[in-house]
Amino acid sequence: MTEDIAAAVETELVQLSCQLTEPGERECLRCYLLRMLAEFGCDCTHRWTIRWREQCAPQAAELVRRLQELGGFCDCEVVLNVFPGYLPVDGPLPCAGQPRAGSALPCAVRPLRRSA
Ligand SMILES: [Zn+2]
Ligand SMILES: [Zn+2]
Repeated sequence: MTEDIAAAVETELVQLSCQLTEPGERECLRCYLLRMLAEFGCDCTHRWTIRWREQCAPQAAELVRRLQELGGFCDCEVVLNVFPGYLPVDGPLPCAGQPRAGSALPCAVRPLRRSA
C-alpha cells in the first residue's frame, strides 16, 4: 500500500517536472531559455536549447552550431550573446510567440508602458 502511494507520488512528480520544462505552444527560444534558466539555471550545456528544438523546431538540425558561431556556447551564453538587449526586467515576460513556426528568432516582446 505505502509503496503504491510512493510510486504514485513519484509518477506525479515526474509528470509535473515534464510539464514545467515543456516549451509553451509557439514559445520562442529566447523566452523559453529565460524561463528555464530562471527556474533551473545553466549546466554549461545546451540542454534547454536542445529540448526546445525537439519540441518547436525539429528540422533545425544546425541550431546549436549556429548559436555557437554567434557566441552561445551554453544556454546562458545564448541568452547573453545571441539574444542581447532583452528588456531590463526582473523576470521573464510572457512570450509573444514564435515569429514563424520552427523559427529560432526571438519574439517581439514589448516593454510594458509605464503608467506613471
Ligand atoms: Zn551557461
Ligand atoms: Zn518569446
